[in-house]
Amino acid sequence: AVAAGPAEWNGTGATADGHVVKVYGNVGSPADAQAAADAGAEGVGLFRTEFCYLDASAEPTVDEQRQAYTAVLSPFRGKPVIVRTLDAGADKPLAFLSPEAEPNPALGVRGLRIAFDRPEVLDRQLAAIAGAAEDSGAVVSVMAPMVATADEAAWFAERARAAGLDRAGVMIEIPAAALSAREILDAVDFVSVGTNDLAQYTFAADRQLGAVAKLNDPWQPALLRLLKLIGDAATATGKPAGVCGEAAGDPRLALVLAGLGLTSVSMNAPAIRSVGASLASVTLDDARSLAAAALSTGTPADARAVVAAALK
Ligand code: PEP
Ligand code: MG
Repeated sequence: AVAAGPAEWNGTGATADGHVVKVYGNVGSPADAQAAADAGAEGVGLFRTEFCYLDASAEPTVDEQRQAYTAVLSPFRGKPVIVRTLDAGADKPLAFLSPEAEPNPALGVRGLRIAFDRPEVLDRQLAAIAGAAEDSGAVVSVMAPMVATADEAAWFAERARAAGLDRAGVMIEIPAAALSAREILDAVDFVSVGTNDLAQYTFAADRQLGAVAKLNDPWQPALLRLLKLIGDAATATGKPAGVCGEAAGDPRLALVLAGLGLTSVSMNAPAIRSVGASLASVTLDDARSLAAAALSTGTPADARAVVAAALK
């Protein structure tokens, strides 16, 4: 059994023996950012920029974007912030970026795919993000959503660098990307796993549909096996691989993620302290045993049960 450690979190994301696992906040507005900072987030692992424009009918100008992003980044002066470029389409349509009606929007032109047809929109956003990095003093990285291949990742990183943003990464939310984690990490500076979409695409189960929600359980062993591929690629390349989907906000699952080799977890503000305290309560070896135990099961219920039993 794994020894239970301190219930309080000291604010530094690490296991009991000092293995670093950063604890970041997910944000979409200045209020979210302040809440994450107040909760002790060490930075921002996911800034969903499309949340700023869900009601916008026209593309915001570079200056408007720069101001909006600066307002979100300001509580994190001197700290790392990952700004995700617009993830429009599917469950988050933006009026000024919506593609033609598609039979399967979740499988259509969403996220970075929009930028292949309209790179000037991406370039304007990257210019605004670079400006907001200057104005806020946050240590900004940029990240693209809905990336399928290493070629797409390399294309994005090149455009980011051309805009003066020299830390560029991509989300892993498509099974093909998880299976290519090594090649993708060779092309960019970091990755972050969106477990909400990665589950949706792994189980072919719409994330918005209650009838199939059981399949999208983040404790599904099949999902954990994909996460292991990504953790292994992070270890092999020495580059960061975080998790910013809902899975990261579950204090016990965060231990499994750490044990799989993921290097940070990013979540909504209310979960930050309990995840930080949970990580501090086990050693890296403990986390690795929990991960191995969860991986060896065949159902989410069994995965939860073996981890709960080991933590007793
Ligand atoms: C995810 O897919 O897990 C994710 C973090 O991105 P979003 O929920 O915004 O699609
Ligand atoms: Mg997603």
